[in-house]
Amino acid sequence: MEITPLNTSTSTVIRSSLIIPSFTQILSELIQNSLDAGSDSIEVTLNLMKGNESIRVKDDGSGIGKEGLSKVGKRFRTSKTLNETNLGSVGSYGFRGEALSSIASLSLLTVTTKPKDIDKTYTKILKSSKTLYFGIDSSKTINADNGTIVNVKEMFHNIPVRQKELADSNEETLLRQCKRLIEVFALSRPGVKWLVWDEKGYGDRKLIMDIRGAKSSVQIFRFLYGNALVKRVQSIRVSAGNKRVDGFISLFGDIAKSHQHLYINNYPMGRSDLHLSIARRFANSRFGNLATSGEHDSGNRQHSASEKRQSPRRLVRHPIYVLNVTVPSDDVDVSYEPAKGILGYKDYGKIQALLHAVVDEYLKKNGYNRQDNGAAASPSPTKQSATTKRPHGKSPLAKSNTSHNNVNSNWDLTRPAPLSFSAIPPKDSAVSAVRIPPEQLRMNETAAIPPISPIPPISPISSIPQWITNLEKSVDNGLLPFRSSAYPRKKRTFGEMQQEDEHTTTNVYDRDPANVLAARPISLESITKTPKIDVQLSKSSLAQARVIGQVDQKYISTIMPTSSKEKAVVLIDQHAADERISVERVLHDLCEGFKNDTIPITKLKHIPIIVLISSEAKILALDGILDVFGRWGIHLVLPETIQGDYAQLEVHAVPTVLASRLGKKEGVEMTRLIRGYLAILEEDIGGMKALIDSYQMNQPEINQMDGNSNLDRSHGGHENWGKEMRFMPREMLELVNSKACRGAIMFQDTLTPDQQNRLVLQLAQTDFPFMCAHGRPSMIPLIAFKDSQSIQSKRKIDWRSFKEKNKV
Ligand code: ADP
Ligand code: MG
Repeated sequence: MEITPLNTSTSTVIRSSLIIPSFTQILSELIQNSLDAGSDSIEVTLNLMKGNESIRVKDDGSGIGKEGLSKVGKRFRTSKTLNETNLGSVGSYGFRGEALSSIASLSLLTVTTKPKDIDKTYTKILKSSKTLYFGIDSSKTINADNGTIVNVKEMFHNIPVRQKELADSNEETLLRQCKRLIEVFALSRPGVKWLVWDEKGYGDRKLIMDIRGAKSSVQIFRFLYGNALVKRVQSIRVSAGNKRVDGFISLFGDIAKSHQHLYINNYPMGRSDLHLSIARRFANSRFGNLATSGEHDSGNRQHSASEKRQSPRRLVRHPIYVLNVTVPSDDVDVSYEPAKGILGYKDYGKIQALLHAVVDEYLKKNGYNRQDNGAAASPSPTKQSATTKRPHGKSPLAKSNTSHNNVNSNWDLTRPAPLSFSAIPPKDSAVSAVRIPPEQLRMNETAAIPPISPIPPISPISSIPQWITNLEKSVDNGLLPFRSSAYPRKKRTFGEMQQEDEHTTTNVYDRDPANVLAARPISLESITKTPKIDVQLSKSSLAQARVIGQVDQKYISTIMPTSSKEKAVVLIDQHAADERISVERVLHDLCEGFKNDTIPITKLKHIPIIVLISSEAKILALDGILDVFGRWGIHLVLPETIQGDYAQLEVHAVPTVLASRLGKKEGVEMTRLIRGYLAILEEDIGGMKALIDSYQMNQPEINQMDGNSNLDRSHGGHENWGKEMRFMPREMLELVNSKACRGAIMFQDTLTPDQQNRLVLQLAQTDFPFMCAHGRPSMIPLIAFKDSQSIQSKRKIDWRSFKEKNKV
């Protein structure tokens, strides 16, 4: 490989004052070089011992020839052919030829390398930009066909300020940052294998990351962070002219924003305006709201546990995505500042608009955002409509005619998706759709991409009859708004709410401040528009519901009083209701059990052995952590000493309700539970301890509740188990949900009147009767009447002819 100087016109636009500011930045540059060299496997060794910090990156890439190596360490030397046309082209992170020379100026840098068809290995050692050695490497450190080892020691030895910064940095924090950096690169380059070692002293090193290559970033994501957040994802492979977006967006939300990975030409972007504007689109759609999350949910799928972890008052869900935008090199500003992780773009607006289009399409596809409600997802409707004037009006997501067939709608699930990405336009129109006159683009820089071509309405996934679907749609886009028009919509504190309760004569609200959601009535605006009828249902309505009968073997039709002393016909989804009842029963028992340390356990005969990496085991060994697991009914036994890279953990007992799943010999689910929970505990062991401590303080109260918790519930007394819920291991919550779903009454199950009554009664006793385990509304108010007389004497509903008329 030839290493040539940058031509001056290029090098002068490049900021010459690049200074590599930090340990992690050095690591980042070395990784980028290895990836640029086409490596399949990268091994990183980090030494974070104070005063002895070093980074070693070994790869199996192209290597550097002797001639090239002789130039390494000189500024603006790069092998990456440089002219303005291919800067930033795919697969090339570096084009400045500055990283190694900068590193050489502030450390002791050793580069050992062997290109493919040369059988000699060369080494170059530089310190403070001076070459200390350049010649054949006799130690044969590279025994493969080709590859490079770059070793950086004595960092910042000549820059006291930076040196002090490094000395003052927290070792753990630094290690975490390095791991995160590697994860971020690994996500965008799924084919690459990674080994990361933490070197403590000479010869004492621990494997801290071992990422096997995979086919897609989803697989890498699962490997790194577990399956829970990305059980179902929408694969994204979209091209718009000379730009592409690849990656995935999860159908699940997260409590944190930590999994929003954006890349431009594989270069990871720091948190940026692009992230923010994407977040805004999600937040403004139905995706962002728990109450509306169950749209695509039918039957036995599970929702992310994270939604349920949150306090019922704050139901924000953050999206999880890995998206790489590929732009042609001429969109990239040459003079970017790599340390900040933000590239400069000549046309930032185009990239933003493309990402917006992808997100909007995703939201629409997945039923989070109906067309007729499109404005909700667009923070600037005016700009949106301005773009409709674009010629062609074709989707920028139009499939590129060079790209793979049928890749735009890759769903990563076993169940095939009923929806597909935008229709494939004819070849020529695909091209014209993306060829946007430059003036126009400049004009519309912030919203250049036209709206996506109309997509037929989403067809229902389940077998809900059309007339119900139509009805649902006519009601605020198919969702029952959880709001009360009797009360102002402003946020109220618990205190205010209690006060209001005291002055309320009708018993609309349950008087439990912990049950904000449960207590909030459902309101339904009239489906006939005129006259306007408001239906508000509360838990007390439900308790007084009278069962009429089963409809379509799916719903139980009931008449119940509304808060405004009217009556309403309400259909209750029998599956959702039953599922809700059993989920709450189990969750309640688990949370109460956690509180009182009384979760019934099953001792395991065949003890599953869980393998953890030693760093995880060390967290587990910290004071109080095993006790927390024990309180959840998971009894773990750690080996006496943790040696080597891995630790074997024994599972002695699991909660009886979940024994069939968590007690499995192979321990797959248990491993996931422990891994996931450790990460959460590590972050918030303080909060957890405070919770447990609070039990000690309220001891008498707890004793009172002991033993009769289930009975208590039937009298409408709700215990405050929301706090425990939030700390419940996510896997546990998911197992409960999936168990409840499978055990629940299904559609097409015929119920006797007695069973129907019991179901409604039990539902009335739950804390969150208005939604199923997956957050889907469990009932549909049909119509409200002024008084019960008129409904019985004047207007008996003729269901049969109604259904016939609507061709059910
Ligand atoms: P840039 O990456 O911007 O070209 P660098 O200073 O990072 O500049 O690297 C200088 C040159 O050294 C690269 O262009 C490349 O030819 C060579 N090089 C650096 N690291 C490696 C590596 N791991 N494998 C192969 N070549 C490398
Ligand atoms: Mg580089």
